[in-house]
Amino acid sequence: MKARHIDTLSKSEYSVLFHLINYNRLSALELSRILGYSRQNVSAILSRLVKKGYVVRLRVGKRVFYEPSSYGREYKPYPYKRFLLGKRAVITGASRGIGKAIALEFAEKGADVVINYRQVKHDPLAHEVAQEAKKYGVKVVVCRADISTENGVKKLYQATMEGLGGIDILVNNAGIIEPPADWLNLTRHAWLKTIDTNLYGAFLTTRYFAKPMLKQRYGKILYIASVWGTVGSANAPAYTASKSGILNLTKAMAKELAPYINVNAISPGNIDTDLTRAAGEEFIRDVIEQTPFKRLGTPKEVAKLAAFLVSSHASFITGAEVVIDGGFSLR
Ligand code: NAP
Repeated sequence: MKARHIDTLSKSEYSVLFHLINYNRLSALELSRILGYSRQNVSAILSRLVKKGYVVRLRVGKRVFYEPSSYGREYKPYPYKRFLLGKRAVITGASRGIGKAIALEFAEKGADVVINYRQVKHDPLAHEVAQEAKKYGVKVVVCRADISTENGVKKLYQATMEGLGGIDILVNNAGIIEPPADWLNLTRHAWLKTIDTNLYGAFLTTRYFAKPMLKQRYGKILYIASVWGTVGSANAPAYTASKSGILNLTKAMAKELAPYINVNAISPGNIDTDLTRAAGEEFIRDVIEQTPFKRLGTPKEVAKLAAFLVSSHASFITGAEVVIDGGFSLR
């Protein structure tokens, strides 16, 4: 048979083939549940793939399954890299740190991304992230908006709908530790600003973006919590309280939005970003000493976990907290 290139497949054909390669054998119904496509759409795509020789149809008793043909399997290495192809993702707080790494990881995996951030002075940083993401051939929208306010979230929602035409993945990553953060000096202003950004903001974005997800019966929501939300931080009570709140918000929203939307949380330990560096050298020395892996984590390590959790590889995971901390919270 004459060699054909994967590019001859549409995004949805490619996605179906990719999942058949991963799972080996699936029915049209199973595929439609994992991918969030309608049953009719999946059946039409499967018929085309069978006709093109990428997929074979099998009858087992009364049931019909699909498997990749040996020709279809040849494309295994390439689809593995682009497992978010065609998905539309919003990442809050993506101008730097963990959010930036997540946006770039998603773009590399094929997703269109919205880069959100708050400060005017970080316009150039956000545009640099956008330039880097565009190298992966995906659509990129840059949106400066304060997600701790309803107006900010509305602006982000509108920019997403206009720029990408919809949403499949929401990553609630934006977070702050507003000074003064220690319990003796913490002001009402600092308390409210931290809670408004880390907890209320994450809830507001969820409320806006979950609606189109529910309508299309498909979506992934990921919260970036923190191990401090469980173990308690001695010098940042508002931050710690906001992160414990996020962990329970994850469970509440996972129940509210089931069965079509997966809602999960990542709890990073100490990751090498501006937020951690702002705590000072002594803090960093201490936490490295308390981490069995004896180092800070990298934003890229968190981003790889995020890509897994919003992908179809994690289709049956919801309401979960995944800790990534080099063993820091082991006691
Ligand atoms: P970072 O480097 O300080 O970056 C924070 C990001 O959030 C920036 O892009 C910032 O935008 C954005 N942001 C802040 N307030 C916002 C608002 N109201 N609206 C929109 N965007 C806003 O922080 P990071 O270390 O990457 O942390 C990211 C997330 O991981 C946070 O939720 C944090 O709590 C969590 N986390 C971090 C660690 C760690 O060790 N670093 C550990 C556990 C959890 P600007 O650039 O415009 O300021």
